[in-house]
Amino acid sequence: MGDRAYNFGAGPAMMPDEVIERIAREWQDFHGEGYSAMELGHRSERFADILARAKADLRSLLGVPESHHVLFLHGGATPHFAMVPLNLAGPGAVADYIHTGYWSDKAMAEASAHINVRIAASAADSEFDRVPDRAGWKLDPQAAYVHICANETIGGVEFADYPDTGAVPLVADMSSNILSQPLDVSRFGLIYAGAQKNIGPAGLAVVIIRDDLLGRVRDGVPSVMKYARHVEWDSMYNTPAAFSIWVTGLVFEYVKKQGGVAEMARRSEEKSRLVYDVLDRSSLYINRIQPASRSRMNIPFFLREPRLNTRFLDGARRRGLLNLKGHRATGGIRASLYNAMPLDGARALADYMTEFERKHG
Ligand SMILES: *Cc1c(COP(=O)(O)O)cnc(C)c1O
Repeated sequence: MGDRAYNFGAGPAMMPDEVIERIAREWQDFHGEGYSAMELGHRSERFADILARAKADLRSLLGVPESHHVLFLHGGATPHFAMVPLNLAGPGAVADYIHTGYWSDKAMAEASAHINVRIAASAADSEFDRVPDRAGWKLDPQAAYVHICANETIGGVEFADYPDTGAVPLVADMSSNILSQPLDVSRFGLIYAGAQKNIGPAGLAVVIIRDDLLGRVRDGVPSVMKYARHVEWDSMYNTPAAFSIWVTGLVFEYVKKQGGVAEMARRSEEKSRLVYDVLDRSSLYINRIQPASRSRMNIPFFLREPRLNTRFLDGARRRGLLNLKGHRATGGIRASLYNAMPLDGARALADYMTEFERKHG
C-alpha cells in the first residue's frame, strides 16, 4: 500500500493492513475458483469451510464454551436492542439495564416497547463519567436478564470487569471492545457486537448465546429475529453476508497470529496510556471520565477553547491522523484505538497533542 494514514474513526474503523492486503490479493480470483469472493455461493463447500473456520477461530480466541452458540447475523448491533427482549423475556417481564451513556440508552429505549425496563443503576447524575459503582446496583433477582454496554463508544466509558449476576443472564453489547481482552464467556448469557469497530465490515453482527436461552423466545416474533432460528440454520437462515464473513474470518486469523486477545489487551493498555498520559499532564485538553472507567478503545476529549477544535483537526489531518472529530452528539475530539490501530499511530497522536499544546496551550 502507499501512504497509509492512521484512521482514528469510531466505526467503520481501521482494519489491519495485513487483512486489507490479503483481500486485495485474494478476492478477485477467489481460491482459484475463476470468480470473485463476492460471487461465492453460500451453499458452496468453500463457504461452509470459511464459516466453520471463522466460528472455530472466534471460539478459540474467546474460549467460547460448548454451552454457547456463535452466530454471524445481518444488521449490525442495533437489531439486538429489540431482539434481546423479544427472545429472552415475555410480555410484561422485567429486565434490568445499567445506564452508562448513549448506547445503553438506545438499548433501553428500544427494549421499553417490549418489556418493563428497570434501570438498576445509572450514571446519569454524574453525566456518565463512570460505570456506576457495583455496590449501588439494585438488581431484581426476578429480572429476565441484566443488560450492560461493555464499552460506551461515544462517552468513552468501559467496564473494567464484568459483574456476576448469578442466575439472571448477563447480556452485553460488546460492539466496541470485543476481542480486545480475554473474556470468561461462561459468565454471559448473550453477547452481541456490530462488526465495524473491532472486527470487520459494517453490517455484520457477531452473537454469542447460551443454548438454554433459545427456548425463551416469544410467540409471534418474525423468524429473522429469532436467535433459535439462526442457530438451527447455522447463520444461514437467509443468505448470509458471505463476503463480510470471509473478511471477518481474516481478522480472526490476524488476531490469532498476533498473539490472541491477551496480546490485544496488552497493546490496548499501552496505546491508550500514551494518550491518557498526555491528557493527564495537560491544561489544554479535558477528559472527564473517572480513571477506573476509562475506555481503552475510545478516548473522547475536549479542548479548553472550542475555537481550537478546527485547528487541532486540520493539523492532525495534515499528519495523516484522520477522523478525530468527536461524535455529533458531543462535539470535541474522539480518538478510537481499536485492535487495528498500531502503537505507532497512538504515539503519533500523543506526540501531535503534546506539540499542539506547546503551541496553543
Ligand atoms: C456502534 C455501536 C452500536 C450500533 O451499531 P450498528 O452496527 O450501527 O447497529 C451499538 N452499540 C455500540 C456499543 C456501538 O459502539
